[in-house]
Amino acid sequence: MLRKGTGAVLLALLLAGCGAPAAGQPTTTPEKNAAPAGTARMSRAPVPPVSYPATGSETWSTADGEGRTPSGGGQLLRYRVSVERDIKGLPVAGVAKAITATLNDRRGWTAGGTWRLRRVGPEQPADFTIYLVTPGTRDDLCDDVPDGYTSCRNGNKVVLNVARWVKAVPGYGGDLSTYRQYMVNHEVGHRLGHGHELCPGRGEPAPVMQQQTLGLHGCEPNAWPYLDGRRYAGRSGAYDDELPPREGARRAG
Ligand SMILES: [Zn+2]
Repeated sequence: MLRKGTGAVLLALLLAGCGAPAAGQPTTTPEKNAAPAGTARMSRAPVPPVSYPATGSETWSTADGEGRTPSGGGQLLRYRVSVERDIKGLPVAGVAKAITATLNDRRGWTAGGTWRLRRVGPEQPADFTIYLVTPGTRDDLCDDVPDGYTSCRNGNKVVLNVARWVKAVPGYGGDLSTYRQYMVNHEVGHRLGHGHELCPGRGEPAPVMQQQTLGLHGCEPNAWPYLDGRRYAGRSGAYDDELPPREGARRAG
């Protein structure tokens, strides 16, 4: 359910430097063009434009590892962060920094002491890889319903769709960084063995394992598996939400 007008979301996107349609991208959200205040702000603080083709080449830039293993208890899992080379304007170091900050957050999956997560570099053994990919490559790596829209987890591949990283979802109600934190924690949550969950009630935070990309069902946006130091989850289950139209053409052949 959409609880707010799209204005705040659009402004947030514009402030994040993501309001302009990425070059070569279908403009499936034309309302983004209707926020002159945001445009003015963007001209004061220019950021490199983000662009990406509908389907990339499946070649990768992989981030360096973290300097040290995060302290605390729990089973250690090592992960790489790889960005598809065709994505311009999102350097892998910055993407990895944002992902690692999310995973190491005190509200993140490591908070309960069950897991420790460490980013490793391209030459080091890893337990899973977090990919930031074009919509078409998302379909190849996910090997599920090829929607070109969502993100996914497939085995040891955590696949983040760059279209969502850049634009979040219309009417999400949270800001862009919240959505990015959500998509990282949700898909990594699958890798840690968690399935989908339902909104516990109108106005409550959405569980991180709720499919917030497809609908909040009365819940408020929430990116975190731990709230106020306690594990926050909903009942197991998923909604029969409609998939939004895919972005970008399928890979030819
Ligand atoms: Zn999911």
